[in-house]
Amino acid sequence: MSAASPSAHPARARQAVLVEPGRLELRDYSPPPPGPGEMLIEVRCALSCGTDLKTWRRGHPLWKLPTPFGHEFAGVVAEVGPGVSAFRPRDEVMAAPTAPCGACFYCGRGQENLCESAVGRMLMGAYADLLMVPAHIVAQSTFIKPAHLPFEEAALLEPLSCVVHAQEMARPEKHETVLIVGAGAFGLLHLLVLKAAGIRETAVVGRGADRLRWAGELGASRVIDARSADAAGEVAKLNGGFGPDLAIECTGRLEGWSDALARVRRGGRVTFFGGCPPGTALSVDTRRMHYDNLTLLAPFHYRPRDVRRAYQMLSDGGLGAGAIINAHRRLGEIAQVFALLERGAVLKCAVIP
Ligand SMILES: [Zn+2]
Ligand SMILES: [Zn+2]
Repeated sequence: MSAASPSAHPARARQAVLVEPGRLELRDYSPPPPGPGEMLIEVRCALSCGTDLKTWRRGHPLWKLPTPFGHEFAGVVAEVGPGVSAFRPRDEVMAAPTAPCGACFYCGRGQENLCESAVGRMLMGAYADLLMVPAHIVAQSTFIKPAHLPFEEAALLEPLSCVVHAQEMARPEKHETVLIVGAGAFGLLHLLVLKAAGIRETAVVGRGADRLRWAGELGASRVIDARSADAAGEVAKLNGGFGPDLAIECTGRLEGWSDALARVRRGGRVTFFGGCPPGTALSVDTRRMHYDNLTLLAPFHYRPRDVRRAYQMLSDGGLGAGAIINAHRRLGEIAQVFALLERGAVLKCAVIP
């Protein structure tokens, strides 16, 4: 069953629901007409994300199961609710799935990424024919997709916003050497943003023959196999033998966190980008931290200004971020998508209704 054409209210659609860890079901549902400020969109592409994979494996503290699933998407407006003036049916749109309240302590401090109602009211359900976009997302986090930008690349708005936020905190400079720990989708998205910013030397240390090859193809100036006997020695040789100025951890594993901390040069910065499982504790040698004058950063989520910047970068083109998407499946094959991700066989998979 597919979505009806824009303008008439589409009666039926399919939506993937995570029933319990490891079990995704494609269910039929009938979306109601959009309420005030809301907008119903026909999903043209949804992207798989590391967060989805973690949630698929073990559930997530923020979402009670069963839950509609998927949060990275782009599509076409099917119907707008009362009071929506910025968008019309048939507009091509892209969105980030959260928006801050604008009124809490953190929003007042410009740290909207920590607003509890941002992540608490995250939009889920993008693996579907139709998605109801709530009023706060329509008002703050939805944008017109430039005609030249493919839907699947537009759907990268959310992960790219996280990367933009992280790099905004770390502020890599052109003359610096940056080490990315982890060659997954986020590691390689960081790589593309660093390349676009003209960073002199970008090294990726990771594992898996495919991923290391992709890192090279996407332009890493050096690719280091984490499993090779002398990986640490190779990293130490970077930057004229001083080691990287900035290490960006993108594995979400304690091993990656320790590695990033161990590899950065004296006076350098470490960005801990990948969230680890609850209860993970990192041990830090205070001597190393103090006498080597390290700066440790742990960016979480994104702020509206990061989303606007990410939107600008995607709209301008030149990032080549679409290269991160290296598999395509139909919505009907959603269960297989997660089996594929589990095997590490793809970076990001585009799910097409
Ligand atoms: Zn995501
Ligand atoms: Zn807030």
